[in-house]
Amino acid sequence: MRYCNNCHRITAGEPLFCNFCGRSYDMKLCPHRHVNPRNAEICSQCGSRELSTPHPRIPLWLAPLVAILSALPGLLLLLITIVFALGFVQALASSQQLQFQFFIVGLMLALLWYLYMHLPASLRRFLLRLFRPPNRDRHEH
Ligand SMILES: [Zn+2]
Ligand SMILES: [Zn+2]
Repeated sequence: MRYCNNCHRITAGEPLFCNFCGRSYDMKLCPHRHVNPRNAEICSQCGSRELSTPHPRIPLWLAPLVAILSALPGLLLLLITIVFALGFVQALASSQQLQFQFFIVGLMLALLWYLYMHLPASLRRFLLRLFRPPNRDRHEH
């Protein structure tokens, strides 16, 4: 599947064009579907000028955003754990009933941590595939 930076939708399979806005991905295609680099004006194989419009490149600011997004659940979990630990210390000093509730919450936190430790690899791979860096055709300008 591929993610379209133009209309922000996903097309299944190995599409040449976006299903929703008709842009091609990181190349330009002529009516004969010859593949040309992003900066091509004319098809190098048949001379056609009717090249497709590729979707925009990933904006530069998006790369760190993706990194933050994949790290965010972990940071959030860490924060919750710290708040929980502080609350737990207070509960120890106060009542027995609270201690039991905190024990349950602690178990759930442990479960979340377990999930988090196992999820990120696949989650990150999923995100990377969504925002796959464009092919190296940086000869333009
Ligand atoms: Zn699109
Ligand atoms: Zn062509």
